[in-house]
Amino acid sequence: MRQEFAWIEHENKVYVTQGFREFGKPHAPVTILIQSIFDLYQDLSFFILRKKIFTTGQATEFEKSMVFLAGKRLQDNSRFDEDQYVGQGIEIVQIQGPVFKSQLAIKDVFLEQPLSQYLESVSVTPQIVAVYLTEALDRVSRGQVLHDHNRKIAAAIISSQGQLLRASFANNYMNKTLHAEVCCLQNCDYQQGCYLVVTLKPCRMCADMAWHWSGGDPRFEIFYLQNDPGPKAQGSRLEKEGRLKLLKSLPTNIDQL
Ligand SMILES: [Zn+2]
Repeated sequence: MRQEFAWIEHENKVYVTQGFREFGKPHAPVTILIQSIFDLYQDLSFFILRKKIFTTGQATEFEKSMVFLAGKRLQDNSRFDEDQYVGQGIEIVQIQGPVFKSQLAIKDVFLEQPLSQYLESVSVTPQIVAVYLTEALDRVSRGQVLHDHNRKIAAAIISSQGQLLRASFANNYMNKTLHAEVCCLQNCDYQQGCYLVVTLKPCRMCADMAWHWSGGDPRFEIFYLQNDPGPKAQGSRLEKEGRLKLLKSLPTNIDQL
């Protein structure tokens, strides 16, 4: 495995992170850079991420999709020359990522406990999980946190034995990358036979990250409750392979199951 760099230059500083691109892991130098800038430089992130991002490696589809969502442009297969930056008087800011402090949301805890208790009492299907997630979303009180504009989306990873491995709400108000699926995938190791349930069709970034996270397991599937006709939700690898599945004929609440 080769160490790779990702970096972005803004106002005489170059923000650089390094890491390994590993098949089966939902992280890569480019995603660590973007997510860390949101977490570490909240006020500046909008300006920094308007600049071009460079990486020494060959960017994966989920890295490209994250740039499409949260940044502007990406140039992969670039050369990182620290001496050249120093020679130009540009400060090098090393980012030890991933930071992900914004993923440690209390909302995650709120969601997981009742869901795992509930799943122990029923025969688990993707439909049941989807209905549960919808009801959990309805129980979240909105507007108690000032400027809380997280999208109302929830996701869960369920093992082949029907156990809850991880559940999360979208947490993307400050850090645009923290879709519900990303919060699940980046906090959970892949297990053979597991599947992902989301209340809205996953965007391309999330679907491609999930495929990568699964290590390309041909049996891995994502079930979703509502369609998203927007351009960012089209064309993922899993979709092309018929492994994004729209759930149909759902009961309106858990009591009817
Ligand atoms: Zn997404």
